[in-house]
Amino acid sequence: MLVFVINKHGKPLMPCKPSKARKLLKQGKAKVVKKEPFTIQLLHGSSGYKQKCIAGIDTGSKNMGVAVATEDGRVIYKAQVYLRQDIKENIEARRRLRRTRRNRKTRYRKARFLNRKRKEGWLPPSIKARIEAHYNIARKLAKIIPISEIRVEVGQFDTQALQNPEIRGIEYQQGEMQGFDSVKEYVKIRDNYQCRYAKLRPDIPCSDKLTVDHIIPRSKGGTDNPSNLVCCCEAHNIAKGSMSYKEFTGKISPKIEDFRSTVFMNVSRYYLVPMLQKIAPTKYTFGLYTRRKRKEWAIEKSHINDAIVIAGIKPRWQDDAWYYIRQVRKKKRSLHEEIPRKGRKQPNREAKRNNKNEKEIIVRGKKWCLRDKVYIHELSEAGFISGFTGKWVYVQDIHGNYLQLSDKYKQINPEKLELMYRNNNYICERFISTL
Ligand SMILES: [Zn+2]
Repeated sequence: MLVFVINKHGKPLMPCKPSKARKLLKQGKAKVVKKEPFTIQLLHGSSGYKQKCIAGIDTGSKNMGVAVATEDGRVIYKAQVYLRQDIKENIEARRRLRRTRRNRKTRYRKARFLNRKRKEGWLPPSIKARIEAHYNIARKLAKIIPISEIRVEVGQFDTQALQNPEIRGIEYQQGEMQGFDSVKEYVKIRDNYQCRYAKLRPDIPCSDKLTVDHIIPRSKGGTDNPSNLVCCCEAHNIAKGSMSYKEFTGKISPKIEDFRSTVFMNVSRYYLVPMLQKIAPTKYTFGLYTRRKRKEWAIEKSHINDAIVIAGIKPRWQDDAWYYIRQVRKKKRSLHEEIPRKGRKQPNREAKRNNKNEKEIIVRGKKWCLRDKVYIHELSEAGFISGFTGKWVYVQDIHGNYLQLSDKYKQINPEKLELMYRNNNYICERFISTL
């Protein structure tokens, strides 16, 4: 395990051994500024020796790997970051709730449609959040380690360069659609204006109006990608409803291409790399080189190991500590409750926040906030506050499993907790690998 060090001006220095850190703290020459990863700040003297540190980032839509290696092959930091997966769902829920509010009998509202415009550089929220998470992790890391270069993987192959060097980011997924006004029109032309289900379900007569059906329904996560769309008549579309292709036709569904991870990979190259440049000079590489080098160095595949390979320096020594970081939702700001009575004794007439959505509570003069890392003595385990009832708290471990003191109730009396430190959007757990 290493202790990270920053100088009195807050600039990062090389990490040191715990024994040295303990000595500095005892002599009053340093103070603790962060518990995880453990970081101290020197109170005097601002310079120290620095080595060239290279950060490797294995990008991903679910998991991200980070590693920092020094020039002479010492891996001084390793982390796996689990990113939020609920962005799309939350945005869709918001959209649904707003729609119901607007359709209610309510005061007159000015027409607010046909005034939407997407700014240049707009990205879907789920992808934007991921890109920002990658940037934030790198930025935080650069505060405790003197990173002199970042290397990042931006895709498996450099496919676009082979096809069209001018093509950029999200347009990649639209390549198939060029020259068509809309996806729907494209799908109708592609399918010769014929109902896909006419022969598969002859029991239902076709109607005149042509529509476009989602093979995997939108409600089940199907995308608007042309490979998920077929031309079909209104009658068949209504009959299919939210059934799957197999439920409706009894046949196996045609192959649907899922571009979501590809889109992310391509976006990362044109959006993430320039962002990382602000932190340190950034170079990018491709998956095939990572794979080749990993085999050459005979290292097992994992997010962290890929990051080490991406950093590009063959490891001679590795720190035994690694960090598992999970990106979490800071708090719920929405006042709209889908099920207004749940968890309430009285109807919510004043649009007051429900107890469970509180961001902090004060019990006997002690403040407990969402995401606080707490130690439960009775269990000898640490966890994170994930929610509140009036005066009690819910505690989960880093994987989202509840830590309970009784079989009956999930909530825990805060009197039984000890506050370790507070957190924002990232919660972190240190592991010591025995490898
Ligand atoms: Zn039909």
